Amino acid sequence: MQARRHVALKDSIRSIPDYPKPGIIFRDITTLLSDPRSFRRAVDALVHPYAGGGIAQVAGIEARGFILGGAIAHQLSCGFVPIRKKGKLPHKTVKMAYALEYGTDEIEIHVDAVKPGDRVLLVDDLIATGGTATAAINLLKQIGAEIVAACFVIDLPEIGGAQRLRDLGVEVRTLMEFE
Ligand code: AMP
Repeated sequence: MQARRHVALKDSIRSIPDYPKPGIIFRDITTLLSDPRSFRRAVDALVHPYAGGGIAQVAGIEARGFILGGAIAHQLSCGFVPIRKKGKLPHKTVKMAYALEYGTDEIEIHVDAVKPGDRVLLVDDLIATGGTATAAINLLKQIGAEIVAACFVIDLPEIGGAQRLRDLGVEVRTLMEFE
């Protein structure tokens, strides 16, 4: 029988230099998502610590957090809540601005997306400065969520976002690190 080659999860990430601008290495998870084994392994690893943990809602950050978050929510048999870029959600929202390298952006969530006290797991593909995740956590808290943890496939530890969230008392889980 032919031995199956196991690709390390980290090898399923494609790195694109100088995208979206010079000096940035874009860590592309589309190659992880399109590989059935890697997609399952990543979702299973993110789900595992929270299975049976009473998570009521997974909150995913647009756009790649939707793909991972939907799969995680399905496996945890809980709901899914989208956190979107401004202007996309149809019902009443709360908004939060956050800093980008140049300027600011805004994300929002429906005011009634969770029930007060719901235990929520935040999901995105990658954490860099932690600005997006911190804004998402603030939104979730504003509408009454209890943040159980924030999880990401990729951490860029030199940028320090995961540590910043931990310093705020948020449990952070990541599957791999890149420089
Ligand atoms: P930050 O708010 O700085 O933690 O940035 C995290 C958000 O920006 C996530 O939604 C990521 O998808 C995206 N992002 C930031 N840096 C990268 C990168 N080097 N490669 C891919 N996505 C990134």
